[in-house]
Amino acid sequence: MSVFDHIEFDSHEHVAFYHDKEAGLSAIIAIHNTNLGPALGGCRMWPYVSSAEALTDVLRLSKGMTYKAAMANIALGGGKSVIIGDPRKQKTPAMMEAMGKFVDSLSGKYFTAEDSGISVTDLQTMATQSDYIAGVNAQYHYADEQPDGNPAPSTAYGVFVGLKASVEHGLNSSLEGVSVAIQGMGHVGYRLASHLHAAGAKLYVADIFPEGVEKAVAELGATAVAPEEILGLDVDVLAPCALGAAINDQTLPMIKAKVIAGAANNQLAREEIGDMLVERGILYAPDYVINAGGIIDIFHQRMEKSTNAALRKHIEDIGTTLKEIYTRADAQKAATNRVANIIAEERFSLKG
Ligand code: NAD
Repeated sequence: MSVFDHIEFDSHEHVAFYHDKEAGLSAIIAIHNTNLGPALGGCRMWPYVSSAEALTDVLRLSKGMTYKAAMANIALGGGKSVIIGDPRKQKTPAMMEAMGKFVDSLSGKYFTAEDSGISVTDLQTMATQSDYIAGVNAQYHYADEQPDGNPAPSTAYGVFVGLKASVEHGLNSSLEGVSVAIQGMGHVGYRLASHLHAAGAKLYVADIFPEGVEKAVAELGATAVAPEEILGLDVDVLAPCALGAAINDQTLPMIKAKVIAGAANNQLAREEIGDMLVERGILYAPDYVINAGGIIDIFHQRMEKSTNAALRKHIEDIGTTLKEIYTRADAQKAATNRVANIIAEERFSLKG
């Protein structure tokens, strides 16, 4: 498998592969760009069918983190790590310790945190082996939820704020009575659903596992939808909160929502899909802009001095940033993802 001519390789600074046979760990860390600061990005554990699939994912995700930090006005670079394996069946403390050693071997050029399949407890185990583990404790929080270091509550709040701004811009409406289909009832998806429920939105939810869906039906009055039907539902807003590439050549023709605003990273299978969304009159909230609440949270936890109010304000700025992107995109008749890319590239290339 080649890295330098991989289709997702984009002048990444550093790509490291690690294998610990005894601990059962096969992992990759990708550092895309550190012009603005050390790379930060979560660790994802997923049952990738091949190491090639894992490499594609980590290259795309780490690049997204560079753009995310730049758009959130944060002095951090972009990186990400992936562990190949099923988190429900194959994760062990020894594997998490080995992952901690892997992160430590990069001497602070990369900090890891939560992503799909990795919990605060897993990170605490990694932290026994390295000082470069974020998202394990919290001194500031944006609201009432007791913080434990997991950035998902801040991510969900940022997505909520961004979705609200997108509905205001795209539908000229408040959230009251607006229908939202959420793909993925995990850490972020469920919390997003709670915020939307409190704001009066009508919820349709799907997941490949029943727990989150059942809870949303019981506690938030949501309607359960089959995973294969959620993207094509006749709703106002689609919120992809599962894994990447939900909006692709196969799913695009079935989308009826007029706004796409969700937490998942890399929602568009390729950049051109953004142009097609414009043609179809669908407003797309660029993923790395709307889902930056988590990185903003980690950034504030690592600051010597911040406040709950400063963290909350920084997260709420996501709504303002999105509206600026939408205004610029409207004026240029350009896709929102392309407008966001140009702004981010201007920012992180400055120190290059
Ligand atoms: P999670 O693993 O807790 O939740 C993802 C959920 O999606 C799981 O419940 C999973 O079963 C479900 N899912 C997977 N495939 C699906 C499918 N085809 N249809 C329906 N459901 C499906 O992860 P999370 O922390 O909630 O993150 C969700 C997304 O947001 C991910 O793409 C993640 O990279 C992104 N994100 C998360 C954070 C964060 O702070 N956790 C920050 C930024 C971006």
